[in-house]
Amino acid sequence: MGYTTSTEIDIPKTCKAGVVENEGPDFKLVVEDVPVPQPGPDDVLIRLNTTGICYSDIHYMLCDLPIPTMSSFSVRSPGHEGAGVIVALGTNVTNWNIGDRAGIKPAYDACFNCELCWSGKETYCHESPQIGIQFPGSYQQYLLSPARYTSRIPDGVDDFSAGPIMCSGSTIYCSLKESGLKPGDWAVFPGAGGGVGHMGVQIARAMGLRVVGIDGGEEKKELCMKLGCEAFVDFTKVDDVAQEVVKICDGKGAHGVFVTATSASAYATAPMMTRISGKVMCVGLPPEGTAIAGADPLLFIGKNLHIIGTKVGSLLDTQKALEFASRGLLKPIVEVFPLSKMPEAVAKLRSGKVAGRLVIDFNTWE
Ligand SMILES: [Zn+2]
Ligand SMILES: [Zn+2]
Repeated sequence: MGYTTSTEIDIPKTCKAGVVENEGPDFKLVVEDVPVPQPGPDDVLIRLNTTGICYSDIHYMLCDLPIPTMSSFSVRSPGHEGAGVIVALGTNVTNWNIGDRAGIKPAYDACFNCELCWSGKETYCHESPQIGIQFPGSYQQYLLSPARYTSRIPDGVDDFSAGPIMCSGSTIYCSLKESGLKPGDWAVFPGAGGGVGHMGVQIARAMGLRVVGIDGGEEKKELCMKLGCEAFVDFTKVDDVAQEVVKICDGKGAHGVFVTATSASAYATAPMMTRISGKVMCVGLPPEGTAIAGADPLLFIGKNLHIIGTKVGSLLDTQKALEFASRGLLKPIVEVFPLSKMPEAVAKLRSGKVAGRLVIDFNTWE
């Protein structure tokens, strides 16, 4: 056997995985048995205890983003936010032990030998493939991960929290960091009650920002106010959301608007909510060709408007987001589904009616 295991850990030949059938607008997710992969020399094998369900997974199954499909890489399981434990090590691996806690994040690896990798932007490296598209994702319980790019889960963060932080928490940490907002500045989150937004609210609060949530419905309002929003704007009740936000933010507008929602209207209204020199941070992924981030150049000029996009978090961003959680400053709100109900969880997220994050418990069947 070309890799190391422990006599105390029994690695099965097959494991459960959520796999997509009929990729496209009528896709279906089913749970079935798939082979447990064997680690190559530089890989670790992780047995996941949890995976979060991210809206990007829905995009990948719908094939509505301008990127190659999962099936073009012969991948059937999406998923990119898993947490578990190392159960086998490739022969070259020296920086991990069997039994260590480890997490799966959206970027699978990077080259570590280019300008982007050297400057902490390795998720943009042309050799940074995506897990859950180019490689089987965290809907599969036993997963390979390059040892050098696997994230450690610190003490004090359980796997139900760690999973969602791997993508959502890390992604919004990256956006907040790149926004350059300062303590006391106003940060506004369209989509504040969603998987990414509700973590953004918490990290922003911990950074000393003043937070306004935008979302629809009482459940999301309650969640946002509990997590530390100073004000909440319900887009189902308020006619002019931007005007309301400007009013709340000293009558001048926000220093930063973090668009975690994916709708065209969220992107269209964001520039109207900022003050002079304000920043619109693009985070949520709308289906290809459905939304524009921007405005009339006169608005850019008149307001010194900045529009900035950030992708998923880097290795460092992920570690920083996990540290917020281990210090008690970030606690994902999760609804846990047993493994057999993974298809229901995916359907629920697709419907858009989720406050917080849906997480699958691999150790409970039903
Ligand atoms: Zn994600
Ligand atoms: Zn690189």
